[in-house]
Amino acid sequence: MNESHLSVKNLSYTYPDGTRALKNVNMEIFKGEKVAIMGPNGAGKSTLFSHFNGLTEPTSGYLELDGKKMEYDKKTLLEIRQKVGIVFQDPNDQLFAPTVKEDVAFGPMNLGLDYEEVEKRVNEALELVGMKKFKDKTPHHLSGGQQKRVAIAGIIAMRPEIMILDEPTAGLDPQGVDQVLTILNNLNKDGMSIVISSHDIEMVNGFAEKIFVLYEGELLARGDKHEIFSNKELLKKAHLKAPITTEILYKLKEKGFDVDTTKINIDEVIDEIMKIKKS
Ligand code: ADP
Repeated sequence: MNESHLSVKNLSYTYPDGTRALKNVNMEIFKGEKVAIMGPNGAGKSTLFSHFNGLTEPTSGYLELDGKKMEYDKKTLLEIRQKVGIVFQDPNDQLFAPTVKEDVAFGPMNLGLDYEEVEKRVNEALELVGMKKFKDKTPHHLSGGQQKRVAIAGIIAMRPEIMILDEPTAGLDPQGVDQVLTILNNLNKDGMSIVISSHDIEMVNGFAEKIFVLYEGELLARGDKHEIFSNKELLKKAHLKAPITTEILYKLKEKGFDVDTTKINIDEVIDEIMKIKKS
């Protein structure tokens, strides 16, 4: 049995202006998982994420980290923030130091680590994201993809157990998307749990195994990507676009071909099409 890493129990959150952003959400993330929380704009993804590191306190319900109920005193919050690292959607919200290396050093320095340890972690983190040669540059002179990688390095340097990334590939070119996903896959291979939010189904299809679908603050569905991405009705209800592979299989089925519409990976879909040609 997998060990629970982060659990969300009957979580509801209402903003001071009365907006009910999360409605009785239940969720379990296990150690070492790659998870995507999907939903259109306004679904409640960012509000949920700000609960993950204790930045926001639930209106009702609670969260558990490593089986321990989250509390909001200073000491527990510090523990939570060491374990849960959040990468914001817009690197400008995260990067503010005059140089890349100072930016990446900010988190570990705040952990009270000595100079040598901070320097070691900064070098390691920049190496991992392929940004070492930019360490003396100003973050604001970097491209969007490079800024994203520096923002991720800043979190890696804190050595969290879980990394949460809000729309990690939004606005990046295809190469930038690949670079970020490779970094996340490498971190995951080393044991880090990764949670991303996105409405980009093709990107999520290539990355996450477990999907939660959030819509208007409610968790509409949870499941593996096959279950979720082949459920066209659910995707439509959640205002998400089905992957192109699912669209193709549904079209073939409509035309009377006997294909399995639960296949979502390109190779599996090609196999389905080959079967038709052969029969
Ligand atoms: P997402 O990240 O999925 O786009 P959000 O968590 O940002 O969704 O928003 C969820 C809902 O909460 C939306 O209806 C949004 O308008 C509302 N909301 C977000 N931030 C605030 C705020 N500070 N005050 C009031 N309502 C907010």
